[in-house]
Amino acid sequence: MNGPHNSQGPVRRSSLQVRVGSVLIGGTAPIVVQSMTNTDTAQVAATVEQIIQLARAGSELVRLTVNTAEAAAAVPRIRESLVRQGVNVPLVGDFHYNGHKLLSDFPDCAQALDKYRINPGNVGRGAKRDEQYARLIELACLYAKPVRIGVNWGSLDPLMLARCMDENARLPVPAPVATVTRAALVASALESAALAEQLGLSPQQIVLSCKVSGVQDLILVYRDLARRCHYPLHLGLTEAGMGSKGIVASSAAMGILLQEGIGDTIRVSLTPEPGGDRTREVSVAQELLQSMGLRAFNPMVTACPGCGRTTSTYFQELAGSIQNWLRAQMPVWRGQFPGVEHLHVAVMGCVVNGPGESRLADIGISLPGSGEYPVAPVYVDGEKTVTLKGENIAQEFQALVQSYVQNRYGARQD
Ligand code: SF4
Repeated sequence: MNGPHNSQGPVRRSSLQVRVGSVLIGGTAPIVVQSMTNTDTAQVAATVEQIIQLARAGSELVRLTVNTAEAAAAVPRIRESLVRQGVNVPLVGDFHYNGHKLLSDFPDCAQALDKYRINPGNVGRGAKRDEQYARLIELACLYAKPVRIGVNWGSLDPLMLARCMDENARLPVPAPVATVTRAALVASALESAALAEQLGLSPQQIVLSCKVSGVQDLILVYRDLARRCHYPLHLGLTEAGMGSKGIVASSAAMGILLQEGIGDTIRVSLTPEPGGDRTREVSVAQELLQSMGLRAFNPMVTACPGCGRTTSTYFQELAGSIQNWLRAQMPVWRGQFPGVEHLHVAVMGCVVNGPGESRLADIGISLPGSGEYPVAPVYVDGEKTVTLKGENIAQEFQALVQSYVQNRYGARQD
C-alpha cells in the first residue's frame, strides 16, 4: 500500500510531480487527502481552529477562500498562528475574480500560501482575462508557488464553451451538448496549463482539475484529461451533496477513476449539516482510499451487519466501541507503533461467518448469536487463542488488541 496503487491496479498516468510545502503530489507519491475550510478567512481564530481540526483529522493540504482584502491580510496571521501551535499543514489559497489584485497587494499572503488555486472561468472577462491570468501566473513564478488550474462545470469559461459549440455546430453530425461541454472543460484546463507554461510556470508547478457534479460526467472528463496530459490531477466531485448521497456519489465516481490509476490528490466535497463536523470530508476520503487498498490511515474494523441471529445490540456496540477506541489511540500509536494503521480487527455477530472472518483478521472476535452458547472465541493471526465469556468481554477484548499492537508493532522500534 501507500505506493501509487495496489499491486493489481494500473500505474497512475501523471508522470510529473509537484511539491506543495512538505507534500508531494503526483508520480509515485501517495494519493494526497485534502479539504477546504468553510469559515470566513478574515476571522483568524475560527479559521485557525478549523484548519487544525482538519489537519489533525488527516487532511494533508487545507484550502481556504481568499476573496477579500481582509481575507488576504488574515492569511499570514493564520500561518503564524498555525506555526506557533506546531501545525505545518500546507495552505492553498482559493482565488476567483480578484486573485491577481489580492496577490499583488498582499505579498505576505502570496508568500504565506503554499499553492494557489485559479479557476480559468473566473479570472476575468474579455481582454482583462488574459491580462489577469498572466498576472496570476507571473506571481506564482515570482513566489515559486505551484498552481492548481481548477476548471469547474458551474463556472466554465463562456468563451471557451462558445468556441467549442461553434466548432461542433459545423460538424456534419454535431455531438450532444453534454459531450461538447465536457470537451470544453478539458480544453479549458489544458489550454490554460499550456498558457501558464508559455508564461514561465514550470510543468512541475501545475496541478489540474475539472470538477463536475455528475458521476458519469466526472468519469468521462477525467479519463479524457488523464489521456491527454501528464500533470498531477486533483480529483473531486463538486457539489457532491449532503450525508450519504454525497459520500456515495463521490465514492462511486472517484472509486472508478482511482481504480483506473487516475487521480493524485482527492477531496470529498460534502455539504455538512448546519453546525456539522467539517472533518467528515477528511475521514470519508481516507476511508475511500483505505477501503480500496491504496493507502492506510487507521486500523480497519470488519464487522458484520447483524441479522436475525443477533438478538441484542451488544455486538454492534462492541464493534462501534472498538472502532472509536482504535481511532482515539492513533495520535499516540502512530508514533509509538509504526505500521499500526495496517492492523485489521474483526468483530462478528455469530458463528456463521464469525470464526472465518476473525481468522482472516489480525485479531478477531466472534460473539455468540441467539441460541449459541454464550462464549466469544478470539482469533489471533488465524489461530483461536482464548474464549471470552461473562460481563467484561468488551474490556477483555480491548486489552487483547492493545497487547497485540504492542507485541506486533512495538518490536519494530528496536
Ligand atoms: S455473521 Fe452471523 S450475525 Fe453477522 S450477519 Fe452473518 S449470520 Fe448474521
